[in-house]
Amino acid sequence: MPKHWLRLLLSPLVLALTTQAAAQDTPTRIDAQSSFTRQVPLVSVLEDASGKMSFDEVRASGAFTPAPAIGTNFGFTSSTWWVRFTLLNPGEDDRHIVVREDYPLIDHLDFWAPEHAGNWRHVATGDRTVFSTREFNHRDFLFDLEIPAGEQRTFYLRAASAGPVDLNLEIYGQHALVGTLSMEQLAYGAYYGGFIVLVLYNFFIFLIVRDRAFVFYLLYAASYGLYFAIHNGLAFQFLWPDSPAWGNQALIVMLSLSLVFGMQFTRSFLDAPVFAPRLDVLARITQALALVGLLASFFAPYSLIILPVSILTVVVTSLIIVLGTIGLIKGYRPARFFMIAWGMLLSGVMVYMLKVFGVLPHNALTQNAFQAGSLLEMVLLSLALASRVRELQRQSRTDTLTRIPNRRAFDEVAAIEFDRARRGGVMALLVVDIDHFKRFNDEFGHARGDEVLKQVAEKLVNGVRQGDHVCRFGGEEFALVLPATNGEDAARVAESLRKLVQETSSADAPITISVGVASTEERKFESVDELFRAADSALYRAKHAGRNRVVRYAAEADHT
Ligand code: GH3
Ligand code: MG
Ligand code: MG
Repeated sequence: MPKHWLRLLLSPLVLALTTQAAAQDTPTRIDAQSSFTRQVPLVSVLEDASGKMSFDEVRASGAFTPAPAIGTNFGFTSSTWWVRFTLLNPGEDDRHIVVREDYPLIDHLDFWAPEHAGNWRHVATGDRTVFSTREFNHRDFLFDLEIPAGEQRTFYLRAASAGPVDLNLEIYGQHALVGTLSMEQLAYGAYYGGFIVLVLYNFFIFLIVRDRAFVFYLLYAASYGLYFAIHNGLAFQFLWPDSPAWGNQALIVMLSLSLVFGMQFTRSFLDAPVFAPRLDVLARITQALALVGLLASFFAPYSLIILPVSILTVVVTSLIIVLGTIGLIKGYRPARFFMIAWGMLLSGVMVYMLKVFGVLPHNALTQNAFQAGSLLEMVLLSLALASRVRELQRQSRTDTLTRIPNRRAFDEVAAIEFDRARRGGVMALLVVDIDHFKRFNDEFGHARGDEVLKQVAEKLVNGVRQGDHVCRFGGEEFALVLPATNGEDAARVAESLRKLVQETSSADAPITISVGVASTEERKFESVDELFRAADSALYRAKHAGRNRVVRYAAEADHT
């Protein structure tokens, strides 16, 4: 979820806070230790609604008003904003100071510093001009200031942007700047490193498990990661420094793509078309709208698209939460991780908002809570995918009607137990078939037949010991694996099951079963298939002998 809509929602508030109050347009004394610290300068502000004022007009204007220390976030604004600040160097050495503007998406940012003989050094930059217009090769805007010993100097900044005009000026001594930037770069390296690892890791997992949800996760993480990289100014610096037009459009493109893929991932992850078909239609409409936003970014100006796309972001996020909640309610286990993941992101948003409202202090943690929350979200969604794979595996081994293990599960467990028995043990197989079930279906209907299948499955499961495996082999046949059980004991188990089914079936619609029993002690079986065929042949004899009975496989009978 992007930062933009937040800025959009909060900008009137911030503006209200910034335009009240007044202080003197006094110079900021540069800290004597300023080579080791950073400071926020006192600034004065001038709003140029026409955007046409020249530097000379502005310098002559008396319309500057002091801005409070809370900052100068003007939010979305069509005005051009001028900022003036004066620095006093009380020390005995000439000083080089760096001023930093930490919102890298401002379209046009101009800076004027006084030079000797009444000349001004003018730097015209912004994210609508190529990256090389910057004095420093850095993602944020940095400008070099020189203040002679014991003197003061006044500097000017001009900012105009189709997006928010958020000015957060800070001045740094050179040592302080190096220290701060290396910490920040380390944090960004860890953050984007995390994204890259998640993308690669899940790509390889996809190659193995081939679940499409992984692909949508990848695309979501990639577009979302790029969105943040644009926001931090890193994409412009490192990916397309010579393409400012694309750089500005890319923000909308990546935001739209993360909405499309985030929603696609959600639909695929939660099987929304099955779970919640009607909401899924709504989800698809939001995807279509996000694509419209993406296409519109090629024709329409940023300022026109950002509001609808921001609103769409809120809608998409809400819809994702609703879908996840439905998944939770329906008992879909992977939905738990999914919801915790989105909870992480929303907590990050909350912390960030509480900071903006002044409830929480402004520090590196609260300032970056949103972005940090998005990485935590991605990590947890990756866990959610692992949980989904487990769930898919479980489902592929479970019979959908009776909810007991299916034939695939039987094949696996029978092979394992057969190997174990061969290494000096014994095991038995029971093949159970419901008698005259076709007739039952014909008489009572298929739905009632399904009910009976479920009941018989339940009775078989309850009628065996722990450690025995009851599987639905197909149709109205069940196969039971009884580890460490000889033929005699297996026949006893089979007989008790037969009785149980007969005695507990309803009088108006009696149900009986026939059971074939084979164990590894009967003769030497080469494979589990052979053992199964032995049990099946015993079942065949039980049917021929009149049904509703248990027949044990006998090696001699095979040859007659
Ligand atoms: P027999 O005593 O010889 O086993 O007779 P039968 O009718 O049980 O055996 P047959 O193999 O001829 O028919 C199996 C029937 O089981 C056919 C089908 O209608 C029914 N059946 C198979 N799977 C299902 C199912 O999932 N639900 C329902 N209701 N019936 C099923
Ligand atoms: Mg049958
Ligand atoms: Mg049958």
